[in-house]
Amino acid sequence: MEFIPMSKWELGLDDFSVIAGPCSAETPEQVMETALGVAQQGAKMLRAGIWKPRTRPNSFEGVGSPGLKWLKEAGDATGLPVCTEVANVKHVYEALRTGIDVLWLGARTTTNPFAVQEIADALEGVDIPVMVKNPVNPDIDLWIGAMERIEKAGITKIAAIHRGFSTYGPSKYRNAPHWEIPVELRRRLPDVPIICDPSHICGRRDLLSAISQEALDLNLDGLMIESHPNPDKALSDAKQQITPEVLGELLAGLIHREAVSNDPIFLHSLENFRDQIDEFDRKLIEVIAERMKVVRQIGEYKRDNNITILQTSRWNQIIDERMEQARSLGLGEAIMREILGQVHQESIRQQTEVMNNQIEKH
Ligand code: PEP
Ligand code: MN
Repeated sequence: MEFIPMSKWELGLDDFSVIAGPCSAETPEQVMETALGVAQQGAKMLRAGIWKPRTRPNSFEGVGSPGLKWLKEAGDATGLPVCTEVANVKHVYEALRTGIDVLWLGARTTTNPFAVQEIADALEGVDIPVMVKNPVNPDIDLWIGAMERIEKAGITKIAAIHRGFSTYGPSKYRNAPHWEIPVELRRRLPDVPIICDPSHICGRRDLLSAISQEALDLNLDGLMIESHPNPDKALSDAKQQITPEVLGELLAGLIHREAVSNDPIFLHSLENFRDQIDEFDRKLIEVIAERMKVVRQIGEYKRDNNITILQTSRWNQIIDERMEQARSLGLGEAIMREILGQVHQESIRQQTEVMNNQIEKH
């Protein structure tokens, strides 16, 4: 595959460009105000969602076609090229008719090869840049496959957008970054620019800077950040949007390191390790909570059968077995004994509570 680098898209983009704008176009005024603001803060392209893929029905699903004109007008007023998400053939035709400069495929669309193929077919013979978000699931082949379909339609101005991957259960991020996936994409398709979308990775404002910095440290080629004049009142993704002023502060705070200095790989790995640790701690607490649920059930059972809480033989057996396992995994005996002792104490406390409930009941 041969690709034209973003800086040669004839849209005034740099080697590292910031794309900013609202999650959704809401009103002509909101789009214009955001455009003027982000342009002032150094954004090189304006984004806005016109048709919004929402997880549940009855949420705001975008203003639809009229919003295209607002976006185009805001682009004309600021001199910024404009981009929007297309998810079907109708979206493609309407966006092309309005003169939208760049299209992107959303994460949910990339997941579906039929949808991607229909969009690719609609783009046959059109020379418009297309950005392809990663699929919601962490599948690099599906991501590459979507870009291949677009490329086969004759599009050579292609960029990838890294927006993170869905997770199940508690997580610090709305979509886990899995940096190893964009890193592998770079290895497999070295000429495809990769834009990082910290907004959809983080899902909250306070993490945006760190993720943006990490994208820079991994030599990604730009950022797509959601911005809204009044983020708390945004009709979609309110928690992750920032005002153009805050965007300016975020960008000013980023450190543009030399690709070879300060060992970004080390920094990246460290961050990666710490994320893993955070995840393990979360799991550890969940497992303890699950253990306590069972402990309380045993408490009820003992209570109803008039059996005492502490059974020393059982406790000795637990300690022996667990210590054996700890030793075989190379864990320190004293500390493991201490941790297990504390867990046991908490179990006794929980069962005592269950027993006392009975006393109160009588
Ligand atoms: C968006 O960019 O507003 C959006 C819907 O993103 P994603 O496809 O990454 O969920
Ligand atoms: Mn959004």
